[in-house]
Amino acid sequence: MPPVFRFAPSPNGFLHLGHAYSALLNFDRARETGGRLLLRIEDIDMTRCRPEFEAAMYEDLAWLGIAWETPVRRQSEYLADYRGALDKLSALGLVYPAFESRAEIARLVAAREADGPWPRDPDGAPLYPGDAKSLSAAERDRLIDTGMPYALRLDMAAACRRTGGLSWKELGEGPDGERGMVPARPEAWGDVILARKETPTSYHLSVAVDDALQGVSEVVRGQDLFHATAVHRLLQVLLGLPAPVYRHHRLIRDDAGRKLSKSSRSTGLRELRAAGLTPAGIRQLVGLG
Ligand code: GLU
Repeated sequence: MPPVFRFAPSPNGFLHLGHAYSALLNFDRARETGGRLLLRIEDIDMTRCRPEFEAAMYEDLAWLGIAWETPVRRQSEYLADYRGALDKLSALGLVYPAFESRAEIARLVAAREADGPWPRDPDGAPLYPGDAKSLSAAERDRLIDTGMPYALRLDMAAACRRTGGLSWKELGEGPDGERGMVPARPEAWGDVILARKETPTSYHLSVAVDDALQGVSEVVRGQDLFHATAVHRLLQVLLGLPAPVYRHHRLIRDDAGRKLSKSSRSTGLRELRAAGLTPAGIRQLVGLG
């Protein structure tokens, strides 16, 4: 079977040089290996994703010379798939509702930090400190009935007990030079959010489900998602999904060494194109000349 690659942007802004690098690496790998390249539109966050950004993505990727298979999978059209996966995890007793708002969580963390450092996840955000996990079933039902918003969180300790130690095969490199069989440490993320009252999924859940449903065999993406792979491995095992291999790549940075963002104009593909750059020039800029 030919290897399957995917490029999975979120249409919440215009593509920049970092996206170009990732998309070109996927495209080149697919071509070199006789593989397939899929495109997935990660538009779960409906407050930030916009159709005009999606249209611009297709235009920018085609301009770069990238070809992908159609139909494109747009996550917002497949909520039932994610709900199904969430239901499986719930049936295993691994999901609980947490009712604290972001502001309440910040207050709880500040209170914990008064007594000493509170653990942070690999992205630097404090772990969820709430105690919604210990609410009784009756209390949960009562709070849900009030109509309050809530997040559905993974009981990380119980999930890790269930799977035991996990690892993934890294063909690229992690931020600290990790490669080969990399031990996964999902517990470093605490009780991650899997879904919210109004949205039956999250980035972690939909990426795990989609990579499997689309038959992705090699995930090529930026090192900023290297540590998140631990959560994806955990979800794959809990849901009985196959494990792709991973190839994390270096990030393209701006002159000040910062990770690019969708708002940084000087590295936007549209701006560079308007300034007269060619697709070959973009390849050179990202070191794929
Ligand atoms: N949608 C994610 C992003 O734009 C990428 C997800 C992935 O490659 O796993 O950063």
